[in-house]
Amino acid sequence: MSHENAPATKLLATACACCGRDLVDAVSVETGIGPECRKKYAIDTDVSEAARQEANALVYSVAQKGIGIRKAQAAFERLAELGFVVLAERIAKRFRATLQPKLSEAEVAQLRKEYAKLRTDFCYDNGYSAGDFDAHVRSQDPRGPLEFVKLAKEVTCMCKRCGGSGQYVRYSGSQMVSSSDCFRCGGKGHQTLDDARRNRAYDELALNRALRAG
Ligand SMILES: [Zn+2]
Ligand SMILES: [Zn+2]
Repeated sequence: MSHENAPATKLLATACACCGRDLVDAVSVETGIGPECRKKYAIDTDVSEAARQEANALVYSVAQKGIGIRKAQAAFERLAELGFVVLAERIAKRFRATLQPKLSEAEVAQLRKEYAKLRTDFCYDNGYSAGDFDAHVRSQDPRGPLEFVKLAKEVTCMCKRCGGSGQYVRYSGSQMVSSSDCFRCGGKGHQTLDDARRNRAYDELALNRALRAG
């Protein structure tokens, strides 16, 4: 059976976590590392069977597509603890290289700028700080600048104006006078980037009117 149509290679790791070459034999696919790299990084020798098995499992997890940075980082640290220091360094280097292989420095700088702009726009007056924003994005384990920007566009937070109810209630004394959809969040109870941008535009318009009237 060829490498391409072996059922295992479709479901499991397909490229060596150390060098990125295609994995062709069952053991390699199972461990996420090719025979040459296994030899080179001594994963087959000089350690207890338990440590070897744990290391194999760790390498395999990192070789999977879609593993997040934090999980990968933990795997690198554990590998080093087990004594596979060189292997851990090699895989970490390869892992980082696969995160955003096609971005130039200028593109990364541009994405950082875009992220900062999105953050500024979002944290307009909803009580969300830049720190809250960063923490929220990071908690989703983005794999690089592109994902930072993508996640930044999807941040939402509870609407401070209506306390999350989506309703804006007016009182006269303790008497409720009227209730309507909260205009800061459009009645959703949470604010999105679009809400924050609309609120800023609205406030600027209202301020200009007030200035002209004054
Ligand atoms: Zn390799
Ligand atoms: Zn609201």
